[in-house]
Amino acid sequence: LTEVLEHEQDLPSETPDGHAMPLMVNTGLAIDMAVSLKKRISGVGLYRTEVPFMIAERFPGEQEQVRLYRDQLESFAPLPVVMRTLDIGGDKDLPYFPIEEANPFLGWRGIRVTLDHPEVLMVQLRAMLRASQGLDNLQVLLPMVTNVDEVDDALKLLDRAIRELAEDDVIVKRPRVGVMLEVPATLYQLDALAERTDFFSVGSNDLTQYLLAVDRNNPRVAGLYDACHPAVLSAMAKLATESARLKMPISVCGELAGDPAGALLLMGMGFNALSMNAPSLPRVRAAIRRVSLDAARALVEETLALNTPSAVRSHLFHQLSEWQ
Ligand code: PEP
Ligand code: MG
Repeated sequence: LTEVLEHEQDLPSETPDGHAMPLMVNTGLAIDMAVSLKKRISGVGLYRTEVPFMIAERFPGEQEQVRLYRDQLESFAPLPVVMRTLDIGGDKDLPYFPIEEANPFLGWRGIRVTLDHPEVLMVQLRAMLRASQGLDNLQVLLPMVTNVDEVDDALKLLDRAIRELAEDDVIVKRPRVGVMLEVPATLYQLDALAERTDFFSVGSNDLTQYLLAVDRNNPRVAGLYDACHPAVLSAMAKLATESARLKMPISVCGELAGDPAGALLLMGMGFNALSMNAPSLPRVRAAIRRVSLDAARALVEETLALNTPSAVRSHLFHQLSEWQ
């Protein structure tokens, strides 16, 4: 699966037995490369809005944000663009908004910050909505959700933003709203989350970190950080099954989706879309075009029966070499 033919990059992301596996791209700053892939993808599965904030010298104002978001939405329209609200904290600090904590990954992160600073979230939501006028391809994603109240609070702010714009005669439709599943607690609240929102997106990077209690950036424990740990895979499989039961679309936007073996496992589990950094697309597409859905499902079953990360890795390695 290492051989990637350029011409097949224009062919559909589809298994030999005709199962379509939508591929999306993660964006942040430079969208040029991603835009050039427009014909080959199903949209932007994750626009990390904190990236432009990180290179700014102060919080970008509403008009400035409108320009940034309009650029994304227009470049990819009519394809959907999933915009994640500001996900700072953890390892992502803004120079003009320092957060100092002993355990940043367990601290003030993502939606926790923006709900404590609704004025920041309101500016962002209004900017996203303004930018989406007439395009209809905006979707909003909430990061680091730990409990259902946070979703309710964010939705109230979204509705307020829509009302405020209406007072300015800017009429916008309420966008589809999704929740990031990246804190293990959300695995046990899927029904309540599904009642309130339109789609799920799994942040496998953080989900791995929190399920395994391994700092994703600490080299000393890097050997323990593994999205192919049997517990992580079992959680992912459960998420796919439960979402199907709830009729909730579910995708993955963490690194696992951009790994060919990971992508095949996720396809076999039943995920509806995979979102990855642009450079990962060719190899993932090539893998999908060579492996049937049944074979991917069998791979999931075999893999879930293994008890150690090393057994999973070696099984995946052998199976993928065979499929070369
Ligand atoms: C994730 O946690 O998997 C994710 C996609 O978000 P980030 O890497 O930005 O935390
Ligand atoms: Mg995350």
